[in-house]
Amino acid sequence: MNSVFADLPTTIFEEMSQRARDNAAINLGQGFPDDPGPEDVRRKAAEAVLDGYNQYPSMMGTPELRTAIAAHYGHHHGVTLDPMSEVLVTSGATEALAASILGLVSPGDEVVLFEPAYDAYLPLIRQAGGIPRIVKLAPPDWRFRREDLARVIGPKTGLVIINNPNNPAGAVWPREDLEALAAAIADTPAIVVSDEVWEHVVFDGRSHVPVLAVPGLRERSVKIGSAGKIFSLTGWKVGLVAAAPPILKAVAKTHQFLAFTTAPNLQAAVAYGLGKDDAYFAAMRLRLQGLRDHFSSGLRSAGFTVLPSAGTYFVCADLAPLGVTDDQAFCRRLVSEAKVAAIPVSAFYSGDAVRHVVRFCFAKNEATLDEAIGRLVQAA
Ligand code: PMP
Ligand code: GLN
Repeated sequence: MNSVFADLPTTIFEEMSQRARDNAAINLGQGFPDDPGPEDVRRKAAEAVLDGYNQYPSMMGTPELRTAIAAHYGHHHGVTLDPMSEVLVTSGATEALAASILGLVSPGDEVVLFEPAYDAYLPLIRQAGGIPRIVKLAPPDWRFRREDLARVIGPKTGLVIINNPNNPAGAVWPREDLEALAAAIADTPAIVVSDEVWEHVVFDGRSHVPVLAVPGLRERSVKIGSAGKIFSLTGWKVGLVAAAPPILKAVAKTHQFLAFTTAPNLQAAVAYGLGKDDAYFAAMRLRLQGLRDHFSSGLRSAGFTVLPSAGTYFVCADLAPLGVTDDQAFCRRLVSEAKVAAIPVSAFYSGDAVRHVVRFCFAKNEATLDEAIGRLVQAA
């Protein structure tokens, strides 16, 4: 019982959701929407179950879904992918991350990551024997300084992990930062793993820039998506992976011993859903943007300092003006006293953490958000 994973605490998402249940609190912690998701996509899944799509599908994903993924990214992001050699279906983005990190990192490789970092990255890097090299990001813009990146990149850099749009910060990487990353690793063997599960959830007219569309990164990157985020069906756990053939092969070899395959009925429904028209994706963004604005203005009127959110289901509040220096204690008090669960952003750091920011999930109906705001007034 000595593995990297055995020594870890339960994830902050599970911990806060459990505290929310124990305290009968409104759960604005773990990120999941409270709307049921598109009915036609759900119906397609139900039909696929009844129609007999229930046995092991191909390890790489059904040809139907791989073709739909290539078409989807071609249409939305102008990226050309060969469905058979450059696309893999996994059991959620979580499995895609595990397959990518375990499949591409050798013991002793340096792995660059940016903190705040989604909580799965670091344990997987450690389990693979990688040596984490961390670039710290801080509010309000959460962008890296060129010199900080230069300091951690070198000939031993095996992998760079980025998350764009970023969970928990709600920040979107400007194209120039992606280009600066490409320039910084140009003379190294580094592969980039780009966690883009929030690719469709960007606001204020932004368009997502996938790593595969950045010159210099197309042939050396893995792009990860999640049907759970694309369709607001977070429990579905269907991950979408795209990479040049030699890289994809290494990821797929690992995938075969992690999950091997993914529920075929859900794959059928996701293949159908990825073909939905632009209006669907535009409406989803607009609805979530409206909720972001509604919740952010409520938070401000409750006395909180709200940080910008350019994408994701999340908005962060800066508690420094309230004198808070321990976001974890603040969140524990908030859930038991105000009965609202939130996520302390320091949970996404391993070292020198930002300890005065908390993350709220606004993907809830307005009445729930209003009730939460009413309770938050006493906490500010
Ligand atoms: N990466 C990031 C940045 C996420 O926010 C999430 C889940 N919210 C995941 C990966 C995991 O996605 P999935 O549920 O498809 O495993
Ligand atoms: N990604 C979701 C979040 O950020 C939670 C995922 C999980 O529970 N592991 O809230």
